Amino acid sequence: MADVLRRQYLGMGDDVRRFEQRLAEMFGRPTVCVVNGTAALHLAVQGCGIGPGDEVLLPSLTYVASFQAISATGARPVACDIDPATLFLDCEDAARRISLRTKAVMPVFYSGDPGPVEKIYALARTHGLRVIEDAAHAFGTRVLGRPVGAAGDVTCFSFDGIKNITSGEGGCIVTADESLLAAVRDSRLLGVGNDTAKRFSGERSWLFDVQAQGWRYHMSNIMAAIGLTQLDRFPAMAATRQRLAMQYDRLLQGHPLLQVFQRDYSAIVPHIYVIRLNEGCSRDRLRSRLAERGIQTGLHYQPNHWLSFYRDPSAAPLPATDRVFPTLLTLPLHAALTEEEVSVVCESIFECLNDPR
Ligand SMILES: *Cc1c(COP(=O)(O)O)cnc(C)c1O
Repeated sequence: MADVLRRQYLGMGDDVRRFEQRLAEMFGRPTVCVVNGTAALHLAVQGCGIGPGDEVLLPSLTYVASFQAISATGARPVACDIDPATLFLDCEDAARRISLRTKAVMPVFYSGDPGPVEKIYALARTHGLRVIEDAAHAFGTRVLGRPVGAAGDVTCFSFDGIKNITSGEGGCIVTADESLLAAVRDSRLLGVGNDTAKRFSGERSWLFDVQAQGWRYHMSNIMAAIGLTQLDRFPAMAATRQRLAMQYDRLLQGHPLLQVFQRDYSAIVPHIYVIRLNEGCSRDRLRSRLAERGIQTGLHYQPNHWLSFYRDPSAAPLPATDRVFPTLLTLPLHAALTEEEVSVVCESIFECLNDPR
């Protein structure tokens, strides 16, 4: 970062080019960096030619960013139910919500787990849908030996400050679709034609054409400099996240009042570690007891079909999401957390659950 400041080219230039190059080597396909994960999803949806009158299927249990990225294009996000065992999109439920307006499906790799994504691709093939993977949680996760992003239709990542890697803020789009790549490269720079190539060669576009709606969504050299160092640190940070998640599994497994999700942390790099509390066990009480001990917990995510902007009274209900969300609790997980701290969190959970207060 200091080097970027010394060179005084803060916007999108050579550092962004090098960051994209490193990511492209990792995925084995071109990568386009933008200001955040929401922008990546927005441009991916727009670049697939999706807009007003179209519909995109996605799980209700996701960050509101996924929904906003779709509605930003004028398309309608269609909230689907989840499989309560994995928290992944329920493919049968999604299939029932397909209409003539459906253009794409956006599976969310909740907690970093790509789930049975091949079922989503089978559904997409049958109905001629694009698949825009929200892999904001899944940077580094491997499927059949290859990283998420290496094989999908379109994959979007987030480099937000708390994700598996960060560039301060940031995100990227990974795809092998050349026309989509050309569209998102232009649309991140206000639609200015071929501006990406100009900026990477240190030039500016003074005379140009614009063929579509664009946005000021490009990544800066300052962000890319952070991203490049994060890539060097990623193997160690990923291993820590995996080791801590496995430790949580080991310590929490078999407790009568809660369930852990069965996930393969030798392949998954977890962004969050979520447990499910059994019936009769109050999440709010546990949360406040843990907070009293200085242990912060989270809720991922309040379902989007509950929000005023996305509520659809005519839609079929989402019983699994409605039932499961109130039982989910996210425990601390980040690359600076220690095994001792994970042990303390688990012992505190046991003590708080036993506390009759
Ligand atoms: C973080 C996140 C996003 C958006 O990424 P930002 O970089 O925060 O814009 C999208 N979807 C999910 C599931 C996320 O967790």
